[in-house]
Amino acid sequence: AKEEGRGRYRLFEAGMNARIQARRTLELDLRRAIARQEFELYYQPQVDARTGAYDGAEALIRWHHPQRGLVSPADFIPLAEETGLIGVLGEWVLRTACAEALSWPKHLTVAVNLSPVQFRDARLAVTIRNILAETGLPGFRLEVEITEGSLLQDEQRTLAILRELRTLGIRISMDDFGTGYSSLSYLRRFPFDKIKIDQSFVRQTPDDKDSAAIVRAITMLGASLGMKTTAEGVETDAQSSFIAGEGCDQLQGYLISRPVPADKIAMLFSPENRI
Ligand code: C2E
Ligand code: CA
Ligand code: CA
Ligand code: CA
Repeated sequence: AKEEGRGRYRLFEAGMNARIQARRTLELDLRRAIARQEFELYYQPQVDARTGAYDGAEALIRWHHPQRGLVSPADFIPLAEETGLIGVLGEWVLRTACAEALSWPKHLTVAVNLSPVQFRDARLAVTIRNILAETGLPGFRLEVEITEGSLLQDEQRTLAILRELRTLGIRISMDDFGTGYSSLSYLRRFPFDKIKIDQSFVRQTPDDKDSAAIVRAITMLGASLGMKTTAEGVETDAQSSFIAGEGCDQLQGYLISRPVPADKIAMLFSPENRI
């Protein structure tokens, strides 16, 4: 039995070494990927829940790995955060999104996801201001999506950054709302313009009564606080009509469109394609 245990331990160790090795390889690849421009932004449209008209799109990063193919952001964003590479990567995302959105009709916005790690840099707002100046995108056409993790950073610094972004006309969205711990107090302490209802609630509406009640409650909360609400992960007509009926402002999800490359979104947004 002792022998067997030792054998199992060695197997476990080998498995762990393989995982550490795989992680190191991925980290090296990630460093190279930035230099080699293996990243691309996809865009997923957001529509007015009442009229169905386009309001803008969310930028979602994609990594075309030369060997592994498409790597999901869920797999490399955490690594980029741990290694600090999210700094350069995040700047690339902001610059690219602002530059690409410039060709869209002038009323459409682009939403960019910010990592909590980016908020550790007090110069974040300055960086974003410079990117707006360089690309020529007006601040009111940019939205930043932040998660609760960003609000768990140094509160004074985060507040200062968010206030500065707002003076530039940039809109601030609370992403994945309802999945964290103390989101309600954050809504009071931080200057949000929009709440994004997490897809885990959207997915189960309207059949699941509890999820439907939560979507309704968040929509009402947003309305009373003077914030817009967006439902993400809308996949079915039943979800769409229920959520729009509840007075939610915006819809986003596969029902409207999957995330698509820059040239596709520009085509979708071009006035000739207006429905
Ligand atoms: P997120 O910000 O919550 O983005 C929404 C995710 O849901 C996206 O996954 C999107 O493709 C997916 N989605 C949209 N509509 C539907 C739908 O109807 N059904 C389903 N099942 N899924 C839908 P994606 O692109 O894989 O991104 C995953 C996460 O990675 C994002 O979640 C965000 O947290 C992070 N991420 C993506 N791009 C960036 C980026 O540029 N910077 C940072 N910091 N994080 C990013
Ligand atoms: Ca998001
Ligand atoms: Ca989200
Ligand atoms: Ca999410």
